[in-house]
Amino acid sequence: MPANATVLSVVVPMYNEADNVGEFYARVKIVLEQIGEPWEIVCVNDGSGDATLAQLVALHHADARVKVINFSRNFGKEIALTAGIDHACGQAVIPIDADLQDPPELIAELVAKWREGYDIVNATRRSRQGESWLKRATARVFYSVLENMADIPIPRNTGDFRLLARPAVDALKQLPERTRFMKGLFAWVGFKQAIVLYDRHPRHAGLTKWNYWRLWNFAIGGIVSFSTVPLKVWSYFGFGIATLAFLYALFLVSRTLLYGIELPGYASLMVAVLFMGGIQLITLGVLGEYLGRIYDETKRRPLYIVRDYYGIETDAD
Ligand code: UDP
Ligand code: MG
Repeated sequence: MPANATVLSVVVPMYNEADNVGEFYARVKIVLEQIGEPWEIVCVNDGSGDATLAQLVALHHADARVKVINFSRNFGKEIALTAGIDHACGQAVIPIDADLQDPPELIAELVAKWREGYDIVNATRRSRQGESWLKRATARVFYSVLENMADIPIPRNTGDFRLLARPAVDALKQLPERTRFMKGLFAWVGFKQAIVLYDRHPRHAGLTKWNYWRLWNFAIGGIVSFSTVPLKVWSYFGFGIATLAFLYALFLVSRTLLYGIELPGYASLMVAVLFMGGIQLITLGVLGEYLGRIYDETKRRPLYIVRDYYGIETDAD
């Protein structure tokens, strides 16, 4: 290991963050200089259509500790984060958002906890400023559904902002799946975890890239990758329905035997048929969610394509 081996790696996914790059770098730099360990900032340009890349490259030329991975297109935040973590070389890796919603000043606290011997230090939101009522309500529902279904406990109100010690990073790098629900994966690897509370700020500039459709798919992805409950409930449900149907059939047969054939029954027939049809479509949809992901995984495509590296040593060279 070289003498000035990097200790802290800050990893930032960036998608159209040109208005935030300068401010972000300035604030993170102050914090890192105060901590006083050798550091790097690994920025992943996730196919931005604005001046993000130009700004990052300029920063890299001014300060070689800023390293840039430039994707060939937009791959999404989770994958950008994965690429940054793959290429970070610090003893501790700190994923953070570029929009300054995660206050860089908290990094000092994360590092202090790490020094106490924790492998993963989660930054958990005490409040969510600048987020609509609807977003907070849906987030709450999502976390409680996830909590009830997932096989492992995934901390609530914890985004991707946290500190990962090298052993946890190396474990994370072994997880090959494509549906990268990062907060689930961070929890899955285990290790000694601690929590630091903070207040989430509104975005510094620009707009969030998450609309409700994207969030919905993100939520489904999270549940599907960390739980097989949705697949399994249907057999119990089917069992329950079948039992009821059997009892009802007994009743109908006895009634027919006792009182003869009676014709009316259109309403109950329709209700039963439509209800069962609906249930079957739902189960097919659930199967589809899992099957689609199996299909995605089996294609074995690389997670991301990098167009350029700036300041990153790759295996190729
Ligand atoms: N981001 C990204 N690729 C995307 C969408 C977002 O790299 O396709 C980055 C974005 O630049 C920011 C972080 O992910 O640094 C969080 O995004 P955003 O602030 O839009 O999400 P929110 O804070 O609303 O959850
Ligand atoms: Mg944000």
